[in-house]
Amino acid sequence: MQPTMQPTCLQCGQPIKIIPGHRRRCYCNKQCKQMAYRRRQGQQARPTKQETTMDERVLRERLGGG
Ligand SMILES: [Zn+2]
Repeated sequence: MQPTMQPTCLQCGQPIKIIPGHRRRCYCNKQCKQMAYRRRQGQQARPTKQETTMDERVLRERLGGG
């Protein structure tokens, strides 16, 4: 265990510079922050799914109820 609290980048794992007076950062640089942000967005965003349920229903009704 390290006596000093050395924060490491959540993206690449490199030690982050501690700037006195500044808030503790989670990433060593902007690039890592962007990458982590994009990864998060990718997880949330789902692939666009074509909704054909409505069309199918209409077609079936047309075909069925003649
Ligand atoms: Zn990093």
